[in-house]
Amino acid sequence: MTNYTYIKVKTALSPSKLPDIRYALNPYVGCAHGCIYCYAADLCKRYFGVSYNWGSEVIIKKNIIEVLKKDVKRLSPGIVGVSTITDPYQPIEETQQLTREAMRILSQNRFKVSIQTKSTLLLRDLDLINSKNFDVGFTITTLNDAIAKYIEPNAPSPNLRAKAADEVSKHGIETWIFLGPIIPLVNDHEDQIEEVVEFASSINSYIIYDKLNIKPVMNYNMRMKWNLNIDLEEVINQSMDSSYFKRISKLLTDLCKKHKVKCVPAFNTT
Ligand code: SF4
Repeated sequence: MTNYTYIKVKTALSPSKLPDIRYALNPYVGCAHGCIYCYAADLCKRYFGVSYNWGSEVIIKKNIIEVLKKDVKRLSPGIVGVSTITDPYQPIEETQQLTREAMRILSQNRFKVSIQTKSTLLLRDLDLINSKNFDVGFTITTLNDAIAKYIEPNAPSPNLRAKAADEVSKHGIETWIFLGPIIPLVNDHEDQIEEVVEFASSINSYIIYDKLNIKPVMNYNMRMKWNLNIDLEEVINQSMDSSYFKRISKLLTDLCKKHKVKCVPAFNTT
C-alpha cells in the first residue's frame, strides 16, 4: 500500500552527474516499486518519510509539467535521464501521466531522452517514443521471477520486462538492459548472469552493469526488509570487497564476448 502526497517544485530539469546524461527529470520522489537495494533512498533523505519507508510513500510533483515548459526554453538541449532517482513508469504514472507529458515536451523541444524503467507501462507511450530522440533501458537484475519478488517486490516481473524490452527493440528503438545491482550471493551466479546476457543478445541489445554500492539509508532499508535465506552480512561484506566486483566484471565480460553482446560498466569503479 503506497501513500501519495503532492509538492510543487521550482525546477523540472536538474544537472546530472551520470555519464552521458546532461539533465535528470524525476516526476516523483520515491518509488512504489520498493526495491530493497534502491540507492535513491539515500538521495531523497530530505524527505525522511519517503527514504525510510521506501516504497510506501511517494510524492507527486504536481506542477512539474508547467515548470518543464519554462525549463526547456531557458536551457540548451541535451540528453535527459528519465528518471534517475525514481521509476518514471511506477504505478501512479498510469493516472498522473507526468512522464508521458514530460517526454512529449522534451522531444518537441529537441531534447533527447534516455529512459530507464522496470515497468511494462512504458509500452503505453510507444506512440511518442521514436528511434531519433529516445533510448530505453530496462533494468533486469535476474530473470528468476522468484528472486526478483524478494528484492524488487512491487515491480513487474523480470520476464514481463523482458517481453516489453523485446517489443521496444522491435520498434527499432535503441534498447539496453541494466544489469544492476549485481548482489553477491543473490543474482551473481554464472547461470543467472548468462541468462540475462543471452536475453540481451536475442533482442540485439547491450548491457550496462553495476555493483551494489552500499549507502546508509539503503543499508537500513535492506536490514528492515531482508527476508532471503542468505546471510546479509556476508552479502554486504562481499559487495564492499573490490576484488569481488573485479571477478564479477571479468565473468560478465567473458559471457558477453561469448554471446557477442556489448557490455559496459555504469561507472568506472573497477
Ligand atoms: S524501480 Fe528503481 S527507483 Fe524504483 S525502487 Fe526500484 S531501483 Fe529504486
